Amino acid sequence: MDDDPADQPVRVTARRGAAIALGVAAIGWVVAATFLLRTSVPGNLHFRHIDSAATFGANTVRRAAHYERFGNWDWLASQVATVGVLILYAKRGAVFARQSAAGPIGTGMLLGMLGLALVWLSNLPFGIAQHWWDRRHHVSSEGYIAWATGDWAQLGAAFLSICLALVIVMAIAQKLPRTWWLPGALVFVAIGTGFQLTVPYLVSLGTHPLRTPALLASARADERAQGLPNIPIRVENVSDTTDEVNAYAVGLGSSRRVVLWDTLLDGRYSNRVVNIVMAHELGHHSSRHLPKGLAWYALFALPGTYLIARATRRRGGMSRAEAVPIGLFVVVALQLVVSPAQAWISRRMEAEADWKALQTTHDPKAARQLFVSFAKANGSDPSPPTWSYLLLENHPTLEQRVAMVDAWAARNGQR
Ligand SMILES: [Zn+2]
Repeated sequence: MDDDPADQPVRVTARRGAAIALGVAAIGWVVAATFLLRTSVPGNLHFRHIDSAATFGANTVRRAAHYERFGNWDWLASQVATVGVLILYAKRGAVFARQSAAGPIGTGMLLGMLGLALVWLSNLPFGIAQHWWDRRHHVSSEGYIAWATGDWAQLGAAFLSICLALVIVMAIAQKLPRTWWLPGALVFVAIGTGFQLTVPYLVSLGTHPLRTPALLASARADERAQGLPNIPIRVENVSDTTDEVNAYAVGLGSSRRVVLWDTLLDGRYSNRVVNIVMAHELGHHSSRHLPKGLAWYALFALPGTYLIARATRRRGGMSRAEAVPIGLFVVVALQLVVSPAQAWISRRMEAEADWKALQTTHDPKAARQLFVSFAKANGSDPSPPTWSYLLLENHPTLEQRVAMVDAWAARNGQR
């Protein structure tokens, strides 16, 4: 472009157009986020102070705090190592691109896999340390070899995903060097949706249907109360490697499932307590938390891919293999930066699922038993340190969960 004064009005108009588009996008983002943040938990709940020692037992609280402290610092150290390794890789990684005989996309995939391998290697010592700690505290009974090989499937999936992501991004960036981030983000959201639709069928391979007639009857009643159709309840066998208890909701539409760990059914918990878990997981489905999670993913992906495009421009943009190490660093750094916001969003959804469980079962006594048991069964600190709460906690603390049960009971005249 030359400096012909006749170009000036065109440039000003283009800039104004871009500013208007950005303004509209920002307003749209805030409106969508506000809509997604709404929950059915009443805003005027009164939360009583929970005396942790009296509620969970002083010894259990001390042990759980001790157990979690190690994990929190181990996590923090692993993040510092990952970011450090990726900064070095972003600075030096381009050298490998010049030595590669493959085309730009092939070289980009190689650089992506090399980056992932470096991240995996730098995290390995922290993973081993955590596994040692889990074994020491009887949270896991898995041997080191079984633990290490159990991760291969996940690691393979990570390598495949990074290759797929790079092929898509680099191919689009070759055609649209400056605006690839917009279709790129949409492709990622489409992949995320496809994953959420298919993962329940994969989950089915490693689980079996719930067979306890009384629990099945409770699940059907919960579904009716929450306006849900019949959703399959599956059981995952984990009791040979851990005593921890857990459950989760997966899928969209007709692929929706609830999965219970078999440790919930080993006799430690009454049917009434297990029903709280099922009503909570069904609450995720009836509150549409999984589609909402995808919508949040889209809201984060859009500015995210834009920032990747901006950061990689000085290496020629994402169509060039040299840019891949920087792109990788930006992805990991952004994930770290948004993790407090993501944890906060997740805590709101989990609180809503707890509320739904109470509204469905009208059984605050069983809910209290369940949440109190988590301190011992899962080694969860009922009131973790603020920094780890803000960065890592994707559920309300056990103190907060018990306080909500009490608030529900007080509101419904059950105390
Ligand atoms: Zn949940």
